[in-house]
Amino acid sequence: MMPASAALVTGASRGIGRACALRLAKEGFAVAVNYRQGASQAEEVVQEIAAAGGTAFALQGDVAAAGEADRLVREVIGKFARIDVLVNNAGITRDTLVLRMSDEEFDQVLATNLAGAFRLVRAALKPMLRQRYGRIVNISSIAGMVGNPGQANYSAAKAGMLGLTRAVAKEVASRNITVNAIAPGLIDTDMSMEIKGRESLVQSIPLGRAGTPEEVAAAVAFLARPEASYITGVTLPVDGGLTAG
Ligand code: NAP
Repeated sequence: MMPASAALVTGASRGIGRACALRLAKEGFAVAVNYRQGASQAEEVVQEIAAAGGTAFALQGDVAAAGEADRLVREVIGKFARIDVLVNNAGITRDTLVLRMSDEEFDQVLATNLAGAFRLVRAALKPMLRQRYGRIVNISSIAGMVGNPGQANYSAAKAGMLGLTRAVAKEVASRNITVNAIAPGLIDTDMSMEIKGRESLVQSIPLGRAGTPEEVAAAVAFLARPEASYITGVTLPVDGGLTAG
């Protein structure tokens, strides 16, 4: 039987992507669990969804590689016959001060975090336009709203995602497709364990703690629902008040 609604979550083997996949499955979406190298972790996510009565499959693919986005979307359509939700979550950091940053460190982060998101948006829009329905959620970062020292590459990519979100939102609004961004603050995952000055950062968060992947997933699930139909082109910070001004 074909599922009623299908979602592709990139980078869903761990962290925020994993929580998004589990949450969307709980809300009734059949989920494609994309990963780059964590096959066993992605398989665990699929098993957890299946054990709860949901539908999912693991989908290997490096979002930074040209041509992969089209293949990933083709595979989702092949399995589920549609794609209603795309969550562009896969992301990496290569932190260092700008004077020491190599071309490679800059290019790798832009290729994964920004070009990867762009290609997936382009690939997913084709079936979404045919369906006249779609929900795209780009996982940016507060680093794309305010500068983070040591993250010139990451901040540039994440700010780029916000521009991508706004421009594409306007292009496809008339087709019943929404495109929004989430800007997580400090969220407890493998990625944020590496952040320098983590303790002092936590102290500057109005809610006084790091967030959980599930708290980001809740915001993603909201924007992914049909009822979020009048919200497009926005950036929703999920940051415990860090950018509240
Ligand atoms: P994470 O724990 O490091 O997990 C990253 C995920 O992305 C993994 O599933 C990884 O898969 C996947 N991935 C990495 N490169 C990939 C590629 N080229 N192709 C496909 N998958 C790839 O990261 P996270 O903290 O959950 O972050 C998720 C997203 O939220 C990122 O975009 C990040 O920038 C953003 N974010 C995180 C925070 C935070 O505090 N954690 C804050 C703001 C924004 P493999 O394990 O298979 O490589």
